[in-house]
Amino acid sequence: MRVVVVGAGLAGLHATELLRAAGCDVQLIEGGHRPGGRVRTVRAPFAGGQYAESGAEWVDATHDRMLAQLHRFGIERLGPGEQWTTIRRWIHRNGEMLSPEQVRLADPNVYDELDRFDGIVEAAAAGIADPACPQLHAAAAALDAQSLADVAQQANLGELARLFRWRDSQGEFAEEPSQVSLLFVAQQRAYHAAHSGGRTVLSHRVAGGFSGVAEGMAAGLVGVISYGEHLIGVQQDADGALVHTDRRTLTADHVVLACSLVPLRSVQFHDQLPPALHAAVHQLGYGTVTKTSVQWPRRTWPAGYATTSGTAQRVYEPTVDQPGETGILMAYCGGDGGREWATLVEAERLALAAGEMRAMHRIDSEPLGGFSRAWSNEPRFGGSYAVYRPGQVGAYWQVLREPWGRVQLAGEHVAACTGYMEGALESAETVVARIVAAG
Ligand SMILES: Cc1cc2nc3c(=O)[nH]c(=O)nc-3n(C[C@H](O)[C@H](O)[C@H](O)COP(=O)(O)OP(=O)(O)OC[C@H]3O[C@@H](n4cnc5c(N)ncnc54)[C@H](O)[C@@H]3O)c2cc1C
Repeated sequence: MRVVVVGAGLAGLHATELLRAAGCDVQLIEGGHRPGGRVRTVRAPFAGGQYAESGAEWVDATHDRMLAQLHRFGIERLGPGEQWTTIRRWIHRNGEMLSPEQVRLADPNVYDELDRFDGIVEAAAAGIADPACPQLHAAAAALDAQSLADVAQQANLGELARLFRWRDSQGEFAEEPSQVSLLFVAQQRAYHAAHSGGRTVLSHRVAGGFSGVAEGMAAGLVGVISYGEHLIGVQQDADGALVHTDRRTLTADHVVLACSLVPLRSVQFHDQLPPALHAAVHQLGYGTVTKTSVQWPRRTWPAGYATTSGTAQRVYEPTVDQPGETGILMAYCGGDGGREWATLVEAERLALAAGEMRAMHRIDSEPLGGFSRAWSNEPRFGGSYAVYRPGQVGAYWQVLREPWGRVQLAGEHVAACTGYMEGALESAETVVARIVAAG
């Protein structure tokens, strides 16, 4: 069987490996010049061998497929791990850094309000029997019609709780609360609950960065991956498929499109996509994340992850488990804030981030260097990761996960573990199982 896979991110790399193991003749087309896609560790221009992730940064202890890949390539998880629910409760507001306890003193109701918000989401999640099928929830349409902003209103959040929940939405879903479906968030919680079995789940960074996984997979696919080659069109009929790139036309029995939906919006599908699939491909939401990291000569900040009312949104130290006197701080901006930062050139973003970091942590030294990546500015990604907007789980969840003749979609956006590296691997396994079964 001949299979053309488009996109050498984790989904495309994993699908290619599995298809080859099943005896298929596979060609993997990648528009960029490196493997990994949204997994991209940045090592230069940092001094002292330090590094930071411009894309995916944490692996959850429940992400078994990713853990297996880390084990395969001998990549260690770093440090004791983070528990998001507690770490995210440091806040910088009105020029002051508040610890979780000081947050409670500033507003004694804040944690009850946050719990009320979580209670609404958890009640919705409890009705999802299978996280792979959130559309089967008995109240699917009603939950899908609501957004996280509606939940905030029902929970009657005060100023501090509202800031936390806005930053959570902008960080986790890369989108403003009004643009995130409650059913989608419930699905994510149900997935997490199903895999954690009630245990506390810790998230880790990894030694040397996640690019090591993609590089390890790609090293075994020399001659199979063609870099710098772009998909421009797909045709299919009863006899096979034709995949048109900017270099050539390939024939295939099956085609796996393992890239974000945004670049697919400019691909020519000669046999018009069916209307429901066309709408899903063109309309599914993508969040925005602009990550800006700055290296400083000394680590003069308190340990912790700080939510801020400033435009940097969240500032934290990605080098917390790396040795050396120097340290890197990262500003993680999502949603409208991420979009605003994306309109600036990189030097402006670095200056903005450095200024806010200085003010937050009273840093008096000069930055050593840094990088900023606005994923929404890069045409092969067009955003950070998929976010199902109100109404979109009902409209698009199912159709995106079904094959269209010889063409299948893979990638984080069609997984049960949507938005994560784990989801990219999961989606690859799903499409390969279908192709192998189809023969
Ligand atoms: C800022 C940010 C933070 C994140 N944080 C985390 C995290 O902490 N933990 C986690 O698990 N996940 C995280 N993620 C998500 C994770 O990175 C993705 O879910 C995962 O890497 C997606 O893999 P993929 O294979 O689906 O797609 P991609 O990685 O996007 O791979 C698709 C590939 O297709 C190529 N391509 C696109 N168009 C074409 C074309 N026309 N022709 C040829 N090739 C094309 C692209 O160049 C790319 O290499 C984060 C993502 C971002 C952006």
